[in-house]
Amino acid sequence: MRKVIIIGAGLAGCYLATQLQNTCDVTIVTKKSIQDSNSMLAQGGIAASLDPGDSPAQHAADTLAAGQYHNKPAAVNQLVATGPKLIQHLIQDGMAFDRQSNGQLDFGLEGAHSHHRILHANGDRTGAALTSFVQGEIHQVHWKPYSTAIDLQVQDNVCVGVIIRNDKNQALETLTSDAVVLATGGLGNLFPLTTNNQTITGDGIAIAARAGAAISDMAFVQFHPTLLSLHGKCYGLITEAIRGSGAILVDENNHRIMANVPKKDLAPRDVVARHLKAWQEQGHQLFLDISAILDFTTRFPGVTENLDNHHVPFRTTHRIPIQPGAHFVMGGITTDLSAQTSIPHLFAIGEVACNGVHGANRLASNSLLDCLVSAKKAAEAIQKIDAVTIIPQDTPAAPQPKPLLPSLTDLQQNAWQNLGVVRTKAGLTAFQNWLSQFNYQELQPSQLNATDLAITNLCLCASLIDKAALAEPKSLGAHYIQETTVKTQAG
Ligand SMILES: Cc1cc2nc3c(=O)[nH]c(=O)nc-3n(C[C@H](O)[C@H](O)[C@H](O)COP(=O)(O)OP(=O)(O)OC[C@H]3O[C@@H](n4cnc5c(N)ncnc54)[C@H](O)[C@@H]3O)c2cc1C
Repeated sequence: MRKVIIIGAGLAGCYLATQLQNTCDVTIVTKKSIQDSNSMLAQGGIAASLDPGDSPAQHAADTLAAGQYHNKPAAVNQLVATGPKLIQHLIQDGMAFDRQSNGQLDFGLEGAHSHHRILHANGDRTGAALTSFVQGEIHQVHWKPYSTAIDLQVQDNVCVGVIIRNDKNQALETLTSDAVVLATGGLGNLFPLTTNNQTITGDGIAIAARAGAAISDMAFVQFHPTLLSLHGKCYGLITEAIRGSGAILVDENNHRIMANVPKKDLAPRDVVARHLKAWQEQGHQLFLDISAILDFTTRFPGVTENLDNHHVPFRTTHRIPIQPGAHFVMGGITTDLSAQTSIPHLFAIGEVACNGVHGANRLASNSLLDCLVSAKKAAEAIQKIDAVTIIPQDTPAAPQPKPLLPSLTDLQQNAWQNLGVVRTKAGLTAFQNWLSQFNYQELQPSQLNATDLAITNLCLCASLIDKAALAEPKSLGAHYIQETTVKTQAG
């Protein structure tokens, strides 16, 4: 039986486990509990052209347009053709997506989709419902929760395993395998304002980059326009589905911020985020006006709970205070359509991977779908790989230089300023110079404590974003670069 190690217990990693558990010896390593992932937080839903009036071709056209045609067309075609079939299988297996009173699937609308095609489950708790359902389908794998993957074991350019650290007793362990699959998600915690779970610190991208794997499209980071914002801090996502249901973006004077922009409040996320940031920089406050949504609390129970937990008086004001923040990374570990990376026997699936499906900007609700499709394709490829021969090696630990790292707060603030919603060439250059004073590239990850390891990985990711952004001198999708002060449509 082939040994497969999956790093990460989000939707991508867990779905892959369901596909391999009957034929392979599968271990899932995950940093904290199996509840800790971005997948568990997903609110809006999962896109699939299952409505009779819709088609994979229309879904592909919307995906390519949102991605500014920087996408790989073959990856997009694979997503829109394979995705609906996998969702139908999940439904047959008992996954309960929300339905209308007549029993038909209830398709929602989100920004830049030309059709109602977003399936949701348990209202705005789709990610938790779907990921928990998939986790419930896992019956025969070895679980290693509270364990952090630190680095890969690579012999003769073949991935033969991974070094992990037990969170509780700090013990290091080397797991050998025929395939390692990175499913560690994105890098939202590089930024001070983010929707992401606290475990999402760019680890998979950093681990793969250190091992010499190809990385691509790192210039493209998606900033979500609407995070719940209180006193300059963010407290979770306010799903775009709320704007899809009629909510609008306003300032403190009830001025409609997106009124003069094509597609208005449902313009692509990068466009909305930039408008909001520019408006905010003029001293305005930002709100989502939900007065058009009469059944808000029943349709968005997860958001309602979060608002109540933070004592937001939205029932009387019909307004939610918001601001943009880091949400998703389109770039990542380069893979082919089978999730194979540039290192044999190393695979990458879900958000950590860059198979080209999202291009320069992700279409809303396509990432959960990509988790399923990339995992399915990885499973097919892994079933066909040869077993790996491991040569026992005694590698003496290299001496560890004294870590010279920025604080997480400094790194996040600098990243927000220079790698954020609006970038400048001067800012990108200054950031690269600032990063170069730290020795994150010389450190042995296995000898770092958890905080320094996360900072080291985030520094490496930041450097990759910075270099990619400098190499992309023109604005494209989520990568927006300008040399002058932001001009706004303030009236
Ligand atoms: C608030 C929010 C709402 C969203 N809403 C939607 C939506 O409605 N629709 C949609 O399509 N997408 C949505 N997204 C994006 C989507 O949820 C993610 O892109 C997707 O879930 C990523 O899944 P994944 O399995 O690749 O990674 P994740 O779900 O992020 O899982 C990564 C896993 O890897 C673990 N991990 C990380 N590093 C290590 C390490 N070193 N060692 C061991 N384990 C590690 C993490 O703890 C976690 O378990 C949303 C994202 C957020 C944050």
